[in-house]
Amino acid sequence: MKGILAIVLGLCLTIPMVSLSGCIETNNTRTEENAQNTSETTQTGSDVVKVDGKDMDTLIKNYMEYRNDYYEKNKELFRKLSEEGQKPKVLFITCSDSRVVPSIITKSDPGDLFVLRNIGNFVPPHESVLNYSSTASAIEYAVSVLKVEHIIVCGHSQCGACAALYDDIPDTPEMMGVNTWLKVAEPVKEHALKEVGKEDKEKLAEFTEKTSIKFQIENLMTYPGVKKRVESGDLSIHGWYFKIESGEVEYYNKNKDEFVPLDKFHQE
Ligand SMILES: [Zn+2]
Repeated sequence: MKGILAIVLGLCLTIPMVSLSGCIETNNTRTEENAQNTSETTQTGSDVVKVDGKDMDTLIKNYMEYRNDYYEKNKELFRKLSEEGQKPKVLFITCSDSRVVPSIITKSDPGDLFVLRNIGNFVPPHESVLNYSSTASAIEYAVSVLKVEHIIVCGHSQCGACAALYDDIPDTPEMMGVNTWLKVAEPVKEHALKEVGKEDKEKLAEFTEKTSIKFQIENLMTYPGVKKRVESGDLSIHGWYFKIESGEVEYYNKNKDEFVPLDKFHQE
């Protein structure tokens, strides 16, 4: 995201007047103590990226554990994927939120999921593809080249992007990307305000998060490649809602127009 100076692993994106669930911290919000702990500084153009030493030590330690444990146990899988290339069956579209981890939720291995993450798991409609080509290219590549058989749009509770739709984000160069991106979900916001109003904040938040999943599925169908493969029966689209507080997933049942526990998927 342009103009944001420091990126650290953590939980929150703190910006004036709004909080998104993310992991970005601006230089001017870092304390002196943090700055003293900084062990690594990388110059990128005019921006300085600082990584906290303690966080890096943890990452490196975990990396070594992965090399010695997971990689050793799955060497053959990595060799096969490297030689034969990827053939994922699922495009998993979800939020950048650090609390939503597709491979953990679905207990997937490398090669299983083609993952597209962005702020809010939004899918811009195809007519705006030239403004949002990063997201569109991942969808087109997954559907028309990799020929995935399922697309899962996975929203989640406490979504900072959905909450930010109702915040007054400053119109500054630092937030230009966020402001532009959130416009994708403007129709979601309008619908939610009309249906539930803003009195009950909790109800509005969940309604927005779930409605957004339905809207993004509709937007997916505006992509010619998606529409073609859905109509030929080669592709299915699913809406999931991950509840951070309980770790549960609900899926969108189109016939009932409601979200139902995922373990009931085959009983409906
Ligand atoms: Zn989110």
